[in-house]
Amino acid sequence: MNTGGRPELSPGATARRHFEDEGFTLEGVSVAGVATWLTIGQWSLAIDCGVVTPQVVRCRTLALTHGHMDHAGGLATWLAMRRLNGLGSSTVYAPASAVGALRKVVETWESLHRHPFDWQLIGLEPGDRVPIRGDLTLEALPADHVVPCLGWAVWRTKHRLLRSLQGASGPEIKAAKLRGEAITQRADELLFALSGDSRATMVHDVPQLRQARVSCMETTFLDKRCSIAQAQLGGHTHLDELLDVPWQVKTLVPYHISQRYNGDVARRILTAKLGGVVQDVWPLLPESE
Ligand SMILES: [Zn+2]
Repeated sequence: MNTGGRPELSPGATARRHFEDEGFTLEGVSVAGVATWLTIGQWSLAIDCGVVTPQVVRCRTLALTHGHMDHAGGLATWLAMRRLNGLGSSTVYAPASAVGALRKVVETWESLHRHPFDWQLIGLEPGDRVPIRGDLTLEALPADHVVPCLGWAVWRTKHRLLRSLQGASGPEIKAAKLRGEAITQRADELLFALSGDSRATMVHDVPQLRQARVSCMETTFLDKRCSIAQAQLGGHTHLDELLDVPWQVKTLVPYHISQRYNGDVARRILTAKLGGVVQDVWPLLPESE
């Protein structure tokens, strides 16, 4: 395959970054119209599987943004690979309206394989929240694409010592607990968000995208090679629409960049335009060699 200056289209090349403070590693590939997959190994969470890689196979949970082939085409392969490797049951979350068709695709492959896969498929609507680990919750976000599409947010719940007890001694805290008083309060941290395929309207409508520590924003088009109007028509975002957004993210991860841009060009445009807009920009592009 001609990779057109996008090394991630060669097997094995991925973008990967560990976020030390947040305690997770984001890895993936995303080329608009070709293939998108992302994983956070510590959470056993994959998002989309346009192609299936060992990183995606290892994840127990797959959150699909929508049913386009470059995002969901690897679903049955993922299930077959998990079965082959004896990795146990798998859970898939997807937009509720896509569930019937996705189930049919997998059932067709099950009949060809002559055995069922060990999986559950759960349809979600925007605003739905499901636990993916004891302290982690996955939230479905409303994307604005040409077919039903969900973005995703991941929240971590922590129980912090009440402010009134901070500075108190161990015995004082223990005594308060023995008296039956609450000594902690719940705090939800928004660690991660991802837009899915969406028009830029989503950034304004969905605060999670602006507020997550690490926020992945589809940025399919970067310059005059495609107009904002064309991007909107296709249900996508143009970089120029993201420049006046009041970002509060720690790191912005532009992804789903069109094949029209080779990796170096994309990185250069993104850094130049977003440099003064967000404190840290890390495009989902493999480091050039
Ligand atoms: Zn799409």
